[in-house]
Amino acid sequence: MQPINKNNWHSLEIAEVESHLQVSTSSGLTSDEADARLTQYGRNAITARQEQSALVRFLLQFNQPLIYILLVATAVTLALGEYLDAVVIFAVVFINAVIGFIQESSALKAIDALAKGMALRAQVVRNGKKQVIDAQLLVPGDIVLVQSGDKIPADMRLFYVRNMKVDESALTGESVAVEKSTEPVLADEVLGDRFCLGYASTVVTYGQGRGIVVATGDATEVGKIQKSILSAEELQTPLTIKIKKFSHLLLQVIVTLSCIVFGVGLLRGEAAGEMFMVAVALAVGTIPEGLPVAVTIMLSLGVSKMAARRAIIRKLVAVETLGSTNVICSDKTGTLTENQMTVQEIFAGGGYYKATGLGYQPVGDILAGDAALDPNQNQALIMCLNAGMLCNESILRQQDDRWVIDGDPTEGAVLVAARKLGLQEDSLLQEFPRIDTIPFESEYQYMATLHAAAKPVIFIKGSIEAVLTRCAYAMEPNGSAGMIDKESISAEVDRMAALGLRVLAFAVLEPSESTSTLQHTSVSNNLTFLGLQGMIDPPRKEAIEAVKLCQKAGIDVKMITGDHAVTASTIAGQIGLQGSSKDGKLVAVTGKDIQSMDDQEVEELVVHTAVFARVAPEQKLRLVKSLQARGKVVAMTGDGVNDGPALKQANIGIAMGITGTDVAKDAADMVLTDDNFSSIEGAVEEGRAVYDNLTKFIVWTLPTNLGEGLVILAAIAIGASLPIQPVQILWINMTTAVFLGLMLAFEPKEPDIMNRPPRPVNLPILGYELIMRTLLVGSLLLIASFGLYLYERRVVGANMAEAQTVATTVFIVLESAYLLNCRSLIRPMRQIGYFSNPWVYYGILAMLASQMIFIYVPFMNQLFHSSPIGFLSWMRIAGAGVLLFTIVSIEKLIRLKVANGKS
Ligand code: ADP
Ligand code: MG
Repeated sequence: MQPINKNNWHSLEIAEVESHLQVSTSSGLTSDEADARLTQYGRNAITARQEQSALVRFLLQFNQPLIYILLVATAVTLALGEYLDAVVIFAVVFINAVIGFIQESSALKAIDALAKGMALRAQVVRNGKKQVIDAQLLVPGDIVLVQSGDKIPADMRLFYVRNMKVDESALTGESVAVEKSTEPVLADEVLGDRFCLGYASTVVTYGQGRGIVVATGDATEVGKIQKSILSAEELQTPLTIKIKKFSHLLLQVIVTLSCIVFGVGLLRGEAAGEMFMVAVALAVGTIPEGLPVAVTIMLSLGVSKMAARRAIIRKLVAVETLGSTNVICSDKTGTLTENQMTVQEIFAGGGYYKATGLGYQPVGDILAGDAALDPNQNQALIMCLNAGMLCNESILRQQDDRWVIDGDPTEGAVLVAARKLGLQEDSLLQEFPRIDTIPFESEYQYMATLHAAAKPVIFIKGSIEAVLTRCAYAMEPNGSAGMIDKESISAEVDRMAALGLRVLAFAVLEPSESTSTLQHTSVSNNLTFLGLQGMIDPPRKEAIEAVKLCQKAGIDVKMITGDHAVTASTIAGQIGLQGSSKDGKLVAVTGKDIQSMDDQEVEELVVHTAVFARVAPEQKLRLVKSLQARGKVVAMTGDGVNDGPALKQANIGIAMGITGTDVAKDAADMVLTDDNFSSIEGAVEEGRAVYDNLTKFIVWTLPTNLGEGLVILAAIAIGASLPIQPVQILWINMTTAVFLGLMLAFEPKEPDIMNRPPRPVNLPILGYELIMRTLLVGSLLLIASFGLYLYERRVVGANMAEAQTVATTVFIVLESAYLLNCRSLIRPMRQIGYFSNPWVYYGILAMLASQMIFIYVPFMNQLFHSSPIGFLSWMRIAGAGVLLFTIVSIEKLIRLKVANGKS
């Protein structure tokens, strides 16, 4: 084969493209050929442009105000001849950067892996057969089938299109969808006007198409402009931004304060070098530099926890928002229900029939219900089942003793029902070869197929509304077209729907003129009604549980479905949805109802309504907006092509991993790998837990900074020398953040996590109570550390190094004790379990071990000006630790009592 770096595919005839790529559009490549080409051209993946090289990311770790201060401090200490201090400070800066780099990398990796987990699939023809493969395995010459909702997986020359429109904004920036054709265009036509090409990563918004792959991976147009499809996800969220802003503000305050301290010291006649170190100590101690990183890490830990519960996070911000979600709008079929459909009732030729058997196993009978006629004599029934089998895209097959459906379960059920009367797809298709198709789309609610027989014939299946309005006749049991009694049909629909059955209507049309293509207009009227098929789709057991949990957690669950109103409210009742009800029954609001309302009315209605039926995708957007106008934080599911805008608008857009289109997945913040409602509930739970743990971390970390700052200010105020030196402060901050603080990320969920209302979005992270606690602990740290320092100096008569070591160790020990307090913000340890998070103990042990090294290893004594301390000093420090733990425990208890008393 010749090299495939041509760039004039758009000007070639299909036959030329075929011969050039040595493939036929009808049979595709052979597997062997495809494998060979895969080795030759590589995977169909765009080499993600490394957003920033590792080196740059490492160097960026130094790009922080605090680091500048430390670098200046390094220089000044060098100038002062304090070489050891300079080395230590610089080492801390360096180690900090390394830690920051590692942590950031692992957060990025977690998120990267998740993005990759959602592999794009492609439908291809190979070895003459349709099959679905991983889009990365596509090679030039592959024959690819796409339809609305698909992302085009590689650049391809189209040889068949059906109303195919493509959104090429990813490539050209032009947001109006482009209508595609198969005709070649001039060679010098610009990208956007090469109508016979489909470009990788653009999205089919309408119709269908087939093409020959002409470029894959980096050779595609997107590949060339290096616009990575899986662009590295943003690591910033409103929360991290808020915290960054807070840190910056604090930084300015502290730097100003440090300057004042420095100036005042000079005026008082202190040595400049010493005063400078005091100012540095103050800055280093009080700036919570680890906070933003810690928040990012905790959020990304949440991402992996959610993934374990089958919710894949696509945007980090979702982790945070999930905790505040107070409305979940879920679709019905497959999410709240099993999507394991079985036709149970058929209405045709004026009588109804029952189908026996369960699941996709094509074993069972069609029995006369109230119908007098034997099923095999009722032509309307036979045609109804025929229509179901022919107007169908799904495939029924056996997989190790089990019968499975490839495709839409609704269609699978219809297929199985026809088999139960002895019909077979193969022979039917020989009798009625299919020439054209209008695929099912939620927007139109029906599907139609055109078949060539003695005379051409069109079969249609779809929702009652969509089909019945188009019917003018009804088939009689003898096969002739008779009068249609729409009222009795509607009554029959209601009867089936009230049982919770999903009802499809079937119809047939013999077009007046012979035609080879099918348009929506070809089936707009004069259809002959064939019958109804009602299928069960039982609610998922897990969904019932999950809905209960959500309700307890103050989250409204709403069902938004394209299905019939009565079916929808019956299922909603079985699942336990609550909302507006008439005489105890849930009543569904339909898309039509909403259409005629103004925004005000919709807003009023939407808050109290639990079930929305026959909702078109565009209307979902309106529902989301109305809910948000009422201050709701909305999670909304979607799977279709037209769900994109609603998913984007929702605070949490949730796409279905199995049945969802690429468009929906692209627009979503979160993708459910199992399409199951209970996974949404799980993600909410994890979201709340992450936020809890974040708050705990912040409440734990701030008093350290506060305490250190106070100690230094107090020393200056009373004119004492520093109880803790700058390098010691660095030691405290670095070690406690690593060994202690992060262990809170492993804190299990609090028992009441789904028993309390969602967190209001605008609630500050630290409320009044937590600020008071921070002040309390900060003061206790000051008193203990300064107090014991003075005690060592004045009472015990210890030397400077010993006293400073004691003061430092006070921080380490008290922070360890306080860590235990922080395992829950309100609950005592006895309630959350002493050993439910062993990591805090491992952390504390590691912390104490390092502190031993700090105190007793001579080398460390040199580096950090520390010194061995005696048993009694340890006892006093331990006593302070116990005291702090007790005081905070009591404070928590009082708060809990007050809170309980209030509620
Ligand atoms: P949902 O999945 O929320 O139940 P859809 O928008 O998928 O709703 O479907 C709406 C209606 O369209 C269904 O109630 C059914 O009557 C009809 N329908 C669903 N799937 C098909 C299909 N494959 N072919 C024809 N009609 C269908
Ligand atoms: Mg559906």
